[in-house]
Amino acid sequence: MKRPVVTCPQCGKSVAWDNSNPFRPFCSERCKLIDLGQWATESYRIPDTGKDSEKQESDPSGSEK
Ligand SMILES: [Zn+2]
Repeated sequence: MKRPVVTCPQCGKSVAWDNSNPFRPFCSERCKLIDLGQWATESYRIPDTGKDSEKQESDPSGSEK
């Protein structure tokens, strides 16, 4: 019987889609964790609306009094 083969989304390695592989479609636990980690990072990324970019360097000495 021919086993289906998938490509690991993380490293591109050919992986046999088999019940013995709990990490499918990834080739290994490592690749799975890396992919999940990237996903978590993406969702955690807070959109920078440019609020900080308007921060101006006003005179630190305060000589204008
Ligand atoms: Zn992999």
